[in-house]
Amino acid sequence: MKKIIILGSTGSIGTQAVEIALKHSDKYQVVAVSTNKNVSLANEQASKLGCKVYQGAGQIEGLLDLEADIVLNALVGSVGLEATLKVLKSGKILALANKESLVAGGEIINKHFKDKKSGILPVDSEHSAIFQLLHGENKEEINNIIITASGGPFRESSLEQMKKATTSAALAHPRWNMGPKITIDSATLVNKGLEVMEAHYLFDVPYEQIKVIIHPESIIHSMVEFVDGSVKAHLGPTDMRVPIQYALSFPKRAKAPAGFSDFIKLGKLNFEAVDYKKFKALELAYEAGRKKAGYPVVFNGANEVAVAAFLQEKINLTSITEIIEQVMQEHETCDASELPVVKELDAWSKKRAAEIVREMIK
Ligand code: MG
Repeated sequence: MKKIIILGSTGSIGTQAVEIALKHSDKYQVVAVSTNKNVSLANEQASKLGCKVYQGAGQIEGLLDLEADIVLNALVGSVGLEATLKVLKSGKILALANKESLVAGGEIINKHFKDKKSGILPVDSEHSAIFQLLHGENKEEINNIIITASGGPFRESSLEQMKKATTSAALAHPRWNMGPKITIDSATLVNKGLEVMEAHYLFDVPYEQIKVIIHPESIIHSMVEFVDGSVKAHLGPTDMRVPIQYALSFPKRAKAPAGFSDFIKLGKLNFEAVDYKKFKALELAYEAGRKKAGYPVVFNGANEVAVAAFLQEKINLTSITEIIEQVMQEHETCDASELPVVKELDAWSKKRAAEIVREMIK
């Protein structure tokens, strides 16, 4: 019986994790769930699971005092970073769905928790795929990590059409069922940018060896190419319950939560190059990742505010990338390997992004 704490149990990943835990109540025991605002849903979950409920990010210490094997961090946004650091410090296994904490906190983790990185189990589908592909392999023999991207709802649209995209069009992801923030990030390919940085910090692979390829069917969740030319690909249903369950059941596997692939029905798989003119955010993400020195923190902070503004229909979809670019230009290089600096930088980038939003809507 594995004891699990779920941070952010009322979000998209959190609710799916609860579903998995309820289905496999012989394997997993959820000891506590936490939510930011949706207390009624968390209470409902707790009554089914028979566990404790915590509200707000400030409760995390009390939560981590509980006896548990795994903490699933399914918080959304940069608020997830502190939780990640506290879980790593606690020595508990971290099932990580909060990609912002590796992006903003990558340098902190590398400086202070390098030895604890093996205790991180990625929940993101791409990183779960890469994690599984690297099992039993030698990191020195990686030639390239190839992260697949569906291309989002605007893969076939022009930049002009993207400019005019409504929030509901941007929220209609063709393949994955996810929360609103990550769905918008998928429409701009910011999400893929965050995933590139996440892969860099998780697997210690240089940016030159992390490639992104458009694969509209999203059946291949990522690939690893080795020095001998062999490529391993991870395929499976396009359903987040698969990687969530894998992180909880690792190193074992549990019964398929979302059925099996039908390759005959699928017929063929397609691949395309990324149009970096249209999806400049991905280029900016590579730039931020390579520069380090606080740039990933700024990229992430500015994006969070810009996405919120887009969801409130204050700005265009394409303005998100413009805002990230401007805030990155204003950022002055710094050492981002200590939490106070990262928090300050996160706050600064959000403040600047909010100011730019206000200038845009004047
Ligand atoms: Mg993903």
